[in-house]
Amino acid sequence: MHEPDAAFPTGCYLCGGRELQLRFRERRAATPDPADDSFSCTNLGHGHHPPIWCCRTCGLLFQWPMPDSDDLLKAYSAVEDPLYVGERANRYYTFERVLGALGPAQSRRLLDVGAYCGYFVDVAGHAGFRAEGTELSAWAAGQARSLGLTVHNETLTERAESGDVDDVVTMWDVLEHLADPRAELEAALRMLAPGGQLHLSTIDAGSRIARGLGQHWPWLMEMHLYYFDRNTVARLLEQAGFTVDRIGLYSHVVSVDYLLTKVAAAVPAVGSVAESIRTVVPEHWRVPVNLGDNMHVVAHRPG
Ligand SMILES: [Zn+2]
Repeated sequence: MHEPDAAFPTGCYLCGGRELQLRFRERRAATPDPADDSFSCTNLGHGHHPPIWCCRTCGLLFQWPMPDSDDLLKAYSAVEDPLYVGERANRYYTFERVLGALGPAQSRRLLDVGAYCGYFVDVAGHAGFRAEGTELSAWAAGQARSLGLTVHNETLTERAESGDVDDVVTMWDVLEHLADPRAELEAALRMLAPGGQLHLSTIDAGSRIARGLGQHWPWLMEMHLYYFDRNTVARLLEQAGFTVDRIGLYSHVVSVDYLLTKVAAAVPAVGSVAESIRTVVPEHWRVPVNLGDNMHVVAHRPG
């Protein structure tokens, strides 16, 4: 297992394999062009990250050195992100779209992990789930509560000690941020009734676009600690006690304006073109975005 202070990883988190290889060198943001204000959007964090390593035995990609888990907890607890509130409509479209994959609500109890401002909890609640969330950011949990939602400001491990039981646990774009994702999935398993379902999304490092773009894949970011593919995410879930049912694609619905901002941040060479297009695109245009590099994984707790 990992020695957090070691300069080089000595064993794979997932399989214990020792044949580890530096896949992508550390990258820092390119020097912004002082003539172009739009490059201030590079604070979105695309294109810079610590060294990323690969396990040659199982294929897991991971950041190394890993940040300290207490530091991570503090950082996520302190997150305040008013810009996200501005993206609220798009998040609702995304979540309404994904909710269809969960089947009929039938008053099932649902826990959304990493609920952030509670938007998925809200969508699921309106669809008939008895939905709650957990969220580390006190600010985001407060936003959720201001909408009248139940979002606990605690870790999933703490939540699992509550004795509450759920029928569905969801983790949208959470797994890749976790320092010990297996421990969190084990906590999710403890929250679930036998037969209960887990739905999660995570970026797919094995997708054609990720492999094709290599170092330029925009999801290589400081805040992403692990990069799974279909095999490694299934293996992790099985280690945590889940049975994997299916792995499909997850789409985000975004405004064209937001998409172009992301494109400008991720691909500086086309940034000015993207910025020009932004100025003429109607604000309400929305598109589902799926480049095949975000997985929707469905698993269940064996009965
Ligand atoms: Zn491995």
